[in-house]
Amino acid sequence: MPSSDLNGTSPAAEPIAVTRYREYLRIKTVHPEPDYEGAVQFLRKYADEVQLPIDVIPITPKKSMVIMKWEGSDSSKPALGLTSHMDVVPVFPALWSHDPFAATKLPNGDIVARGAQDMKPLGVQYVEAIRRLKTAGWSPKRNVWVIFTTDEEIGSLDGMAKFVQTEKFREMNLGCVLDEGIPNPNEGYNVYYGERAPWWLIVTATGPVGHASQFIPDSAGVKLNHVISKLLEFRKSEEKRMKTNKLGLGEVVSLNWTIAGGGVQFNVVPASMTAKFDIRVPPTVSNEELVGRIRTWCKEAGDGVSFAFDGITGPRENGLSKMEGEWWEGIERVAKRRNMPLYPSIFPAATDSRFLRSSGVPSFGLSPIQKTPNLLHDHNEYLNEATFLEGVEWYVDVMKELAGSS
Ligand SMILES: [Zn+2]
Repeated sequence: MPSSDLNGTSPAAEPIAVTRYREYLRIKTVHPEPDYEGAVQFLRKYADEVQLPIDVIPITPKKSMVIMKWEGSDSSKPALGLTSHMDVVPVFPALWSHDPFAATKLPNGDIVARGAQDMKPLGVQYVEAIRRLKTAGWSPKRNVWVIFTTDEEIGSLDGMAKFVQTEKFREMNLGCVLDEGIPNPNEGYNVYYGERAPWWLIVTATGPVGHASQFIPDSAGVKLNHVISKLLEFRKSEEKRMKTNKLGLGEVVSLNWTIAGGGVQFNVVPASMTAKFDIRVPPTVSNEELVGRIRTWCKEAGDGVSFAFDGITGPRENGLSKMEGEWWEGIERVAKRRNMPLYPSIFPAATDSRFLRSSGVPSFGLSPIQKTPNLLHDHNEYLNEATFLEGVEWYVDVMKELAGSS
């Protein structure tokens, strides 16, 4: 990739954007040991090709985020951020029709790879949109930052969660960030203005030990059972609320008991037992109220029952980005001009956006992928070349609208 040639070269006789997309897909940034170094190397060359200054920000000794900057004519204005995570989730290769890291292109233009939807296309679309605008002689008023993050797929602790606390983040003076969404099998784009917060709840019950042939009172299991029952009753009521009121998954609390722990032997009543739950809490539900319920259920169960949240999950400020103001209205104008219906809702799972929103930066999640089945984290993840290129055009228009002409 010669740095002097802004147009790049595409040996595969396909649009350069598609070639770069496929190259990026071939880098195995897959958990549990993502090749971030490979991704950083690729992005360094890429930034050089498109003539964008690049910053590599170490988050841990082995994990670095990448930031590209397209300088605007008025850097005093709040900047536009375009973020994407570099990492992808693991694969079960035997269940794939093609090597998930070969980025095979089928005769109909479908490109099959892990990350084909979630979310490598966006990172490349951002850069390609900039390439097109630069080639056309257009330049922005606001600074445009293209951000490539680490570890989103495992909770963002060594990623966006740390990055929003850095000096670099403050320096960037972001006014609005665009992040990932979910593909729409029908026409139009899904857009997310909020998301549910993951609460990974650990309930621990302790109690007297003894031979399991007796009625040992207040055993750990009896107490834990009380809390589990209450939580599962709550699960049922939320499921009912969703169905009765025809709500989206993003609007209710989902809850699953995912891990059970404790016990050593059949005939020994254990001193402690644990149950772990994956709970997803929408921003429309009061954190205090829900924590209060959990506290009450643990208290009712008896002495020696406690609860905690794993890692950085649990109750935290979880904002909604307002669907008003210049940024949102800009997105709406672009969609209208492109005859693209927008379907706003609350994201059912978690993305990097929650850290941006809780840092006071509005963030909208939108993957420009329509008429495509949602294959996030699934086998045979793919994206059609034409849909990918439509996404590049989407960001060309988005940047023109949101970053302002200089
Ligand atoms: Zn993702």
